[in-house]
Amino acid sequence: MEIQRIGVIGAGQMGNGIAHVMALAGYDVSLNDVSDEALAKSLKIIDKNLERQVAREKISEDDKATAMGRITTTRALEELGQTDLVIEAATERETIKSAIFEDLVPHLAPHTILTSNTSSISITRLASRTDRPEKFMGFHFMNPVPVMQLVELIRGIATDEPTFTACKGVVDTLGKTAATAEDFPAFIVNRILMPMINEAVYTLYEGVGNVTSIDMAMKLGTNHPMGPLELADFIGLDTCLAIMNVLHDGLADTKYRPCPLLTKYVEAGWLGRKTQRGFYDYRGESPVPTR
Ligand code: NAD
Repeated sequence: MEIQRIGVIGAGQMGNGIAHVMALAGYDVSLNDVSDEALAKSLKIIDKNLERQVAREKISEDDKATAMGRITTTRALEELGQTDLVIEAATERETIKSAIFEDLVPHLAPHTILTSNTSSISITRLASRTDRPEKFMGFHFMNPVPVMQLVELIRGIATDEPTFTACKGVVDTLGKTAATAEDFPAFIVNRILMPMINEAVYTLYEGVGNVTSIDMAMKLGTNHPMGPLELADFIGLDTCLAIMNVLHDGLADTKYRPCPLLTKYVEAGWLGRKTQRGFYDYRGESPVPTR
C-alpha cells in the first residue's frame, strides 16, 4: 500500500526526531501532543536539527524548508484519522498508550496502519485493544532518530504481511535498516541494553565505583561511545525504569529487578538530560556527576 501521510503522536524527544526524518524523506507529517508547549518546542528542535544538517552540508536550505513545510502540528487526535500510518511515540506508560489508541480508533480510515514506538510494552496487547490487530505493529526507532541507523520492527501475534511490508518500505525509504524482533518484553535492543544500564546503577548503588569511574570504565574498557550512566541520562531515567519494570513483570525473573537508586532518581524528578539533572547535573557549562 502507498504511504504518504504519517501521524506522529507525542512530540517529545522521539516524536520530534520521527517527524524530522519522515518529513525529510518526503512524507507529510501530522504531529500531535496533549501539550501546546511540547508542540512548539518540538518544531524549534526540528528546525535546529535540520539547520545542523545544512551546516554539515548533508542537506540544502531548500531541503530544510521543504521538510519544515511538510510538518503540521495539532492537539486534535482525530486529525490523524485520515493518515496512512500512525506512529505513537507518547510517554512510556501502557495506560496512556491504550487511551490514545482507544480515542483514535473511531476516527480512523479503514486502511490506516497503527504502530507504536514503545521500547518495551507488548505490541500484541496494545493491538488487541484496537479494531485492527492485523494492521498493528511495533515501529521502534533509536535515539537520536536522525542519527541512528536502526529501526526494530516488531510483529504482534496478529500482524499481517502487507502491514509488515508497508512498514519495512518506510524504513527503506528513510535509508535506515530494520531488525525484526519477536514480541517479547523490550524486544532485542532494550532486552540487552537495559539490564546493562540497571547493573551500572547497581554498581553505583553498591559503591563499587562512582559516576565518573563507571562511565570511564565502560567507555575506555569496552569501547562504548558513551558510558552507561551518561546513556541512561540521555534516554531518560523514567523511560529506563519503565522498561526495567516491563522486563521484571513480563519475564518474572528477579534478575530484572530495577535498582532502588534508579527508582530514587525518578522519584526526585531527576530524569536525566530532559530535566537537566540525572546521574549528571547539566545546569552548568559542563556536566557534573551527582555521585
Ligand atoms: P518524552 O517524555 O520526551 O515525550 C513524550 C511526549 O508524549 C511528551 O511530549 C508528552 O506531552 C506526550 N504525551 C503524553 N501523553 C500524551 C497523549 N495522551 N497524547 C499525545 N501526547 C502525549 O518521551 P520519549 O523519550 O520521546 O519517548 C516516547 C516513546 O518512545 C516511549 O514509548 C519510549 O519508550 C520510546 N522510546 C524512547 C527512546 C529514548 O531513548 N528516549 C528510544 C526509543 C523509544
